[in-house]
Amino acid sequence: MIFGNMGSASGTGVIFIRNPSTGENKLYGEFLVNAQARLNKAAADAVKQLLPDYAENDLGSLCSWADHVKFRYHWSSALHYIDTPDDLCSYQYNRDCKDENGEKGRCVSGAIKNYTSQLLSYAIASQSEYNLTEALLFLSHFMGDIHQPLHVGFASDQGGNTIDVHWYRRKTVLHHVWDDNIIQSSEERSYNSNVEDMIDAIQQNITGDWQDEVQEWEKCSFNNVTCPDVYASESIKAACDWAYKGVTEGSVLQDDYFLSRLPVVNLRLAQGGVRLAATLNSIFGSDDSIPGFAKDVHKIYQQYN
Ligand SMILES: [Zn+2]
Repeated sequence: MIFGNMGSASGTGVIFIRNPSTGENKLYGEFLVNAQARLNKAAADAVKQLLPDYAENDLGSLCSWADHVKFRYHWSSALHYIDTPDDLCSYQYNRDCKDENGEKGRCVSGAIKNYTSQLLSYAIASQSEYNLTEALLFLSHFMGDIHQPLHVGFASDQGGNTIDVHWYRRKTVLHHVWDDNIIQSSEERSYNSNVEDMIDAIQQNITGDWQDEVQEWEKCSFNNVTCPDVYASESIKAACDWAYKGVTEGSVLQDDYFLSRLPVVNLRLAQGGVRLAATLNSIFGSDDSIPGFAKDVHKIYQQYN
C-alpha cells in the first residue's frame, strides 16, 4: 500500500503507494487517500516522531511494509483479512474474527483494535512495552486492507484468491482485480498513467461530491477510537454486491465490470484514508491544547476491557 506525501512536494497532500523496491510511484491494490494531510497537529507530530528518518515523514512510503514482513513475522499473515461464511454476506466479530486455528481476534479487525490500543500508550512511550513504529505501520496498512471488499470475503475462495478470471486478456484472480487491476486500469485510461492526477481526482471528491458524507465516515459509535467492525461489514456487503456479483470461475472481466466497479473502489480508497486520519487524530489527541493521554486511557479502558 502506498501513501502519498504531504506538503509542497505533493501538491495534493494525498497518499499514494510506492513500490518499495524501486521507489517508483506505482499504485498497488490498496492505498489510502489523503490521510496524512488530514491529521491534527498532535497526530502529525506523533507520526513524524514514530516514522524512521529514511521515510522522510512520508507515511505512505512505508504502507506496504506490513506485506513485506509477512514472511519474517509469520504470525502476522492472518491479520490482513477476514474469512466470512460463504454466501452469507455478513460479518460478525465473534463469529468470524479468528485465524485458521480458531484463535479469536486474529483477523484484520482484531489487528486494528490491537494496534490502536498499543498506540494509545504513545503518551507514556518511554514505558511502553510495544514497538510503536511497527504499530503505526501495521495500523495504517490494515486500515487499507479492511476497506478492500475482498479482504472480507468468503472462506472457501479465500476472498477471491482461488477464483481465476481474465482481466481483459490477462490471466489473474478476482482478489487481485480488486487489489490492483481496477486501480491500474483507471490510472492508465483516465489519467494517462499519472498516479498523482488520479489521487487528485479522488481528493477532489472528498472535498466535493462526498463532502457531506465524510463526517459520517469518521464517526464511531460510543466515542470509540476506531470502528473496524463497521468497515468490515461494509466490505463484505460490497464484496457481495459488486466484487463477486456475476463472476464465476473463468469469467472474462472487461469494460462493463470495470466501469461499474470503479466508483466502489474509489469510494473505499477515500473512506480508508479518511478513517485512518480520524483514528490517528483520536489516538493522539483531538484537541491540540490538552494532552491526550488521560482521555485516551479512559477510552481504551472502556473499549477494550
Ligand atoms: Zn495487506
